[in-house]
Amino acid sequence: MKEFDYIIIGGGCAGLSLAYELEINDKLKEKTLAIIETREEYKRDKTWSFWKVFNHNFDDCVIKSWNNFTINSPDSSHELTNKKFPYQSIDSGKFYKKINSKLTTNSNISFFKTLSEINLENSIIFNSVHEKELDKSKMWQHFQGIEIETPKNIFDDEIINLMDFNCDQRNDVHFFYTLPFSKNKALIETTWLSDLEDQSLMDYDLQLENYIKNNLGIKNYKINFTERGAIPLFNPSFKNENKMINIGSVGGMTRLSTGYTFLNIQEHSKYIVKNIDNIGGAKIFNLGKKYQFLDKLFLRVLEKHPEKMPKIFFNMFKTSSNTIIKFLSNKSNIIEDINIISKMPKLIFLKAMFN
Ligand SMILES: Cc1cc2nc3c(=O)[nH]c(=O)nc-3n(C[C@H](O)[C@H](O)[C@H](O)COP(=O)(O)OP(=O)(O)OC[C@H]3O[C@@H](n4cnc5c(N)ncnc54)[C@H](O)[C@@H]3O)c2cc1C
Repeated sequence: MKEFDYIIIGGGCAGLSLAYELEINDKLKEKTLAIIETREEYKRDKTWSFWKVFNHNFDDCVIKSWNNFTINSPDSSHELTNKKFPYQSIDSGKFYKKINSKLTTNSNISFFKTLSEINLENSIIFNSVHEKELDKSKMWQHFQGIEIETPKNIFDDEIINLMDFNCDQRNDVHFFYTLPFSKNKALIETTWLSDLEDQSLMDYDLQLENYIKNNLGIKNYKINFTERGAIPLFNPSFKNENKMINIGSVGGMTRLSTGYTFLNIQEHSKYIVKNIDNIGGAKIFNLGKKYQFLDKLFLRVLEKHPEKMPKIFFNMFKTSSNTIIKFLSNKSNIIEDINIISKMPKLIFLKAMFN
């Protein structure tokens, strides 16, 4: 069986980002790479959005960038502007196409459907596939989004609505998210923070239909694209073996309080490539102990007091746009952290800390 220097298990966001980063940094001229991916074809399946707090390789896959955003509670709306860190959305279809067409030009890179086709013994393995099914009773961010197109220009495409809590909460945490890609096209998502066992929360089609009609006042539209997903808001238990490095969601790249993962994956890929010649000996990359601690606390409060979350999220954004963006993108300094923490209800968080 064939042997490779590197093996990437799972050619999704993390696997392909890493392969691309290796390729463009000339790390695959003398080394070989196998990518193991089960999917039959690549097509647009997700829209990855994030604040661009550092440069990444995929500006040409960006659908749109915005400098303005709002957050809505049932009784008020708060608007923020930031010119330094735009919010961006990436079309996964363009991302897959760009990377795959680059990788196929290098004969040192091979693609396989299953691991049984290759010899793993002497390779460094990067894994992005969960070992087993994850616990549905834990906290997840689950959602469905549709890209709608209207016959008339009705959206203000200069501003996104990051969270709209003006909707049915059903004893959990629920908000809508609207990204206007143009004046007549927008991605609208219904998002829940809850376990995955309550099927009654998953009538997403109806939720979207009602929201578009009653909250956005749009009656006439067609649906161009649908995405559905569930992001675990807990770190899967994994073994970090010497020759197996977990990447992507499996590698703890999801920010647990928000579900943001895409830019963390890019940072991790850059870190791996920088240390590739001694990757077994390099420190394991993580998002930072500070955020791990704060997010755990935040999720504990969320589980205990879902009804308080719309107000907590709303207040969190009542700070400068730089502060909140940097905090949510794991780039905040201590002053900015204190600023965010000061917006939280102290007693509830203190109690959560000791429970
Ligand atoms: C619909 C959706 C929207 C999201 N939107 C955002 C967003 O806006 N911003 C953000 O930051 N994050 C977002 N996320 C979270 C995160 O960025 C994505 O989940 C991202 O794709 C995670 O990358 P990954 O490589 O860990 O997993 P994936 O991209 O899922 O890659 C795993 C790959 O492994 C393959 N695979 C599975 N089993 C096997 C096997 N046995 N052998 C080989 N291959 C296998 C899969 O086919 C897949 O290609 C979103 C997630 C979803 C599901």
